[in-house]
Amino acid sequence: MSSPASGDEPRILLCNDDGIHAPGIQSLASALDGLGELSVVAPTTEQSAVGHAITVRDPVRAHREEFEVPSGPIPAWGVTGTPADSVKLACHELLDTPPDLVVSGINQGPNTAVNVLYSGTVSAATEASILGLDSLAISLCEWSEPQFEVAGQWARRIVMWALDRELPQGVLLNVNVPALSAEDIEGIALTRQARARWEEGFEERTDPADRSYYWLSGTFVNLDNGSETDLSAVERGYVSVTPIQYDMTAHDAFDAFDDWGWDESAEPDTSK
Ligand code: MN
Repeated sequence: MSSPASGDEPRILLCNDDGIHAPGIQSLASALDGLGELSVVAPTTEQSAVGHAITVRDPVRAHREEFEVPSGPIPAWGVTGTPADSVKLACHELLDTPPDLVVSGINQGPNTAVNVLYSGTVSAATEASILGLDSLAISLCEWSEPQFEVAGQWARRIVMWALDRELPQGVLLNVNVPALSAEDIEGIALTRQARARWEEGFEERTDPADRSYYWLSGTFVNLDNGSETDLSAVERGYVSVTPIQYDMTAHDAFDAFDDWGWDESAEPDTSK
C-alpha cells in the first residue's frame, strides 16, 4: 500500500456482498479492530452472485448505519446498490480520503475456482483494484452454519501483511478459509484458481397463477487434479490465497492465434 501520511493510521474500507447487516462483515470489522481507521460501505440488502454489476439506470442511495467494533463505533453506510457500486461510492463520495486497503467479506460460502466471476464479494475487491487501491476478498467455505471467528483471525493476519507490503499493480488477493477450528487449519497456501464448473439445471415449478418459473440449481464439479489449486488447498485444510487480476487478456494464448493471418491490412470478407 502507499504509506499513509506520517502518524496517520492506515485507512481500511470494508465491504461485502451479503449486506451490511450480515454477520460476516461484523466479524471482519471486529477482527480488524485496532489495525487502522475502519469504515464500512456495503449493500443494504444481500447481493450475492451479482458479480461486477453496477447500477446505471437507477439512483443509488446511501444511509448512515450504526456499526460497532470492540473499541467503539465506526463510520458505516448502507448502499442501495451492488458491491461494486458501494466501493465506487465510498471512494468517490462518502469517504473524506481514499482508503489504503479495501477488504471485502467475510463471505458466507466459498469463492473458489469459477465462482470468482459470479462473486459480489470478489467484485468489491476487484473494483478497488481498478480504482488503484490494494484490496483483498475473504470468504468462509461454509454455507449453512458459518462460524466467522477463525476466518476473522486469518483476515487479520493477511491484512497485517498487506498493510506492510505492496501488492503488484492490478493484482488483488482472493482468500478462502476452510470451515475448521483454528487448530485444525494446516496453514496457508498461495494457490491458483481450479478448473471447475457447475453442472446445472433448472427446477421448473408452477406459481399460484399456473405460470412456470425456474430455480437454478446445480452441482459443483472439480475438473482439476492439481494440488496447487484453491479447491485442493481448502480441501486439505489450508487457507487459500489466490492472486487474481481484472485484466482478462489471455496472455498465454497469443501463440495459438499465430497462424490466423492477423495482418493490419486484412480486410472483411465481401464475397457474399
Ligand atoms: Mn455472498
